[in-house]
Amino acid sequence: MSVFTAKSFRNHEQVLFHQDPASGLRAIIAIHDTTLGPALGGCRYWHYDNDEAALEDALRLSRGMTYKAALANLAFGGGKAVIMAPANDDPNDSGAGGGMTRARFQAFGRFVDSLGGRYITAEDVGTSPLDLEIVHGVTPYVAGVADGGAGDGDPSPATAWGVFHGLKAAGLAALGRNELHGVHVAVQGLGHVGGYLAEHLAEAGAVLTVADLDESRLRWAKSNLGANVVAVDAIYDVPADIFAPNAMGAVLNDDTISRLSVRAVAGSANNQLAEDRHGRAMAARGILYAPDYVINAGGIINISHEGRTYDRDAAMNHCARIHGTLAEIFQRAGREGRPTNEIADQLAEERIAAHVTAEIRRLHAAVG
Ligand code: NAD
Repeated sequence: MSVFTAKSFRNHEQVLFHQDPASGLRAIIAIHDTTLGPALGGCRYWHYDNDEAALEDALRLSRGMTYKAALANLAFGGGKAVIMAPANDDPNDSGAGGGMTRARFQAFGRFVDSLGGRYITAEDVGTSPLDLEIVHGVTPYVAGVADGGAGDGDPSPATAWGVFHGLKAAGLAALGRNELHGVHVAVQGLGHVGGYLAEHLAEAGAVLTVADLDESRLRWAKSNLGANVVAVDAIYDVPADIFAPNAMGAVLNDDTISRLSVRAVAGSANNQLAEDRHGRAMAARGILYAPDYVINAGGIINISHEGRTYDRDAAMNHCARIHGTLAEIFQRAGREGRPTNEIADQLAEERIAAHVTAEIRRLHAAVG
């Protein structure tokens, strides 16, 4: 297995492999960049086909976290952990009461602790708040758990608030509309984030068409928000102003992009582009794409405010500033005639480079 030449290695600072024979833990922590601060990123618990797939996932996701933190103006770098679930374990039944033993999460906590704070872990796909509590029993380097401060726990309301403001920025740039009143939004997924987002949109007077696998969520949206409901696969064909994906990744691909009949895409889902080239395909169709890691940064922004001095208004105002970041990306993409996902990556890299330059200047000044 190659590491330095792996597809997603792309200048990672550090990649650690850990095995704990007693509990059966096998985990990888990828630390992409700590220029702006300790690497923050969730811990994914998943059945991987092989070691390469686990490594690839860790590398790809940790780099995304570096860019997400940089564009949210946070003093965090990017990292990610993956725990390779044993073949006989159910990822939906992990944690304290399930198939994944307490010992394994404790071993993972010791692994995180051994890095002395260079990496801070959090919840991600396949891990639950309960799992993180176990990890937190072993190490302080855990975000999003209750440690006495307010603001701990479910990041979804903050994520949805950030997405709502990001969606408004997309509406302004793509439709020339300052407000969402009467704007038609096709919402895919009414889960933790999509549900709050749909509520904000309805309050703002947007017209909603929604799709979800869960019938009870559809009934809720229909009766509480006056939403129109379509079948899961039909959401891509709805003629609307904005498409808001809030379910799974890779929804912008060779099949769906040609079907979309909207002016912008702005939603919370991670990894919306099946491949980077699909950002260019979106631009070619005249569809404005709000880069996922920029618009869905509300959860990590909220984490940066966590602790005993948590101020909810300050955290939510910070989330709302996603509007300004996206506006800058949209303007620059327009000026340079380039896809928004490429501009976002470049802006993140520029912010990190500017920090390095400022540090070097500071050091030079300090030594006279
Ligand atoms: P969730 O599991 O609570 O909600 C997902 C919803 O999508 C569910 O209601 C599910 O029934 C529905 N769904 C699944 N497949 C679907 C399909 N094919 N078509 C339509 N609906 C479908 O997840 P969530 O926490 O709301 O997160 C949504 C997305 O946002 C995910 O991609 C997640 O990675 C991303 N995200 C979430 C947060 C957060 O704070 N929760 C932060 C950043 C990014």
